[in-house]
Amino acid sequence: MTFASINPATGETLAEFSELTDAELEARLARAADAVLRWRFTAIEERVAVVARLGGLLEEDKERLGRIMTLEMGKPIRAAVEEAAKCAMVCRFYAEHGPSFIADEIVAGKDHRSFVAYEPLGVVLAVMPWNFPFWQVVRFLAPALVAGNVGLLKHASNVPQCALELESLVRRAGAPDGVFQTLLVGSAAVSSIIADPRVAAVTLTGSEGAGRSVAAAAGQSLKKTVLELGGSDPFIVMPSADLPLAIQTAVKARTINNGQSCIAAKRFIVHRDIAERFLDGFAKGMEALRVGDPLDATTQLGPLASVKLANELDAQVTKSVQMGARLVCGGRRDDPNSAFFPATVLTDIPIDAPAYRDELFGPVGCVFVARDAADAIRIANDTRFGLAASVWSNDPAEQDRFAREIDAGSVFVNDMVVSDPRFPFGGVKSSGYGRELSDIGLREFTNIKTVRIRQARGAHGGNTE
Ligand code: NAP
Repeated sequence: MTFASINPATGETLAEFSELTDAELEARLARAADAVLRWRFTAIEERVAVVARLGGLLEEDKERLGRIMTLEMGKPIRAAVEEAAKCAMVCRFYAEHGPSFIADEIVAGKDHRSFVAYEPLGVVLAVMPWNFPFWQVVRFLAPALVAGNVGLLKHASNVPQCALELESLVRRAGAPDGVFQTLLVGSAAVSSIIADPRVAAVTLTGSEGAGRSVAAAAGQSLKKTVLELGGSDPFIVMPSADLPLAIQTAVKARTINNGQSCIAAKRFIVHRDIAERFLDGFAKGMEALRVGDPLDATTQLGPLASVKLANELDAQVTKSVQMGARLVCGGRRDDPNSAFFPATVLTDIPIDAPAYRDELFGPVGCVFVARDAADAIRIANDTRFGLAASVWSNDPAEQDRFAREIDAGSVFVNDMVVSDPRFPFGGVKSSGYGRELSDIGLREFTNIKTVRIRQARGAHGGNTE
């Protein structure tokens, strides 16, 4: 198997890489197992210094790294450079706060000296997607390294240059040999790597199918997993909202990363009193986006990451329209061999249509009309996903009700959903389990160890008679 790096905007093959041989894979696993023996006992100050230097390199080199991302998976260049800068920020965050997140917690006792320690699990396999090819990896890696774990990256097959660049950056940041390695292997190799006794845990960001397969393999070996899977996030707009701002944000939230974000708003659930105005403004905003070469800094909508993905999205939209959905704008591709997909708005979507049930991973917004708040919550929760939600309302009672009654890992009110290192990130239902970011994300791959040391009589100043 070879890994091809293909520019989705032009179809040009940029580079090709061979899959690791069995012997090369074995050598990398052995190196990781060896590295963890030392890294876990390396002073936390030294581990943190590596993460801080990694942040510095990402910041310094963000223009070049952004270009690698754009060329390999098509995201607009400005967003790609911002992604590298955000990776630098998460490194700074964990370099500053990580040590306090895993400091021993003393539990007072009369006759014992007790504490809770957060210790590394060991070698963690990270199976990662192409859509945020740096961010998804670094938001796993920075806390993992601070915790004393060692990382193995199985990146998506279409972003081998990003994967190798990440390995090189960590090495340049001064991480010892084996602390972070890229494995150029296909998804078929993942189960046996999880089963390898030298691997302690696995984190996956990707589709539901990959989640099932990774969770099953990890289940067989009883290994800890964190799963960050798909989403079909609701974006609810109520009459009290600032409608022009909600519409402007809706366009951005649907088309961020060319529509290929797990937390992109996907289902727009609008109160009937404002539905017509929303639909009109949303469709106009989608149609006005500047489509083009993602390397051009003025481009707002570039190609999907591959022609295959554009074909899959096309099939979902076409089937939904055949089943009765109404196309408000977009929806038709001029060239079936192109990775570009037009900004599209669908409404009147039947409940069995793919646009209702499944995740649409591209610039397609689905608009639903709700009778009232209860109906909006019903539609929002009528999905197997539960990643995040955005709600637009200026009524405080309504804001609290939506925040409490929507089944999702995050609810943002009067804002679009974003990931932020200060807050836990993850989903419920088929969007996965476990959390990344914040102190909680750092502790996911730790052994939360209870230590209770009974004191010799008198050692604590008690009765010595
Ligand atoms: P994907 O096809 O599931 O791929 C993700 C990773 O899993 C890739 O490295 C892929 O390797 C690997 N993989 C695929 N099938 C596998 C299997 N059966 N066993 C083991 N590994 C497997 O997903 P994608 O298309 O790259 O990414 C898009 C999906 O990720 C969307 O559903 C999106 O919502 C989700 N996502 C979720 C989050 C979150 O934080 N919740 C963030 C970003 C994306 P190959 O490339 O070699 O197939």
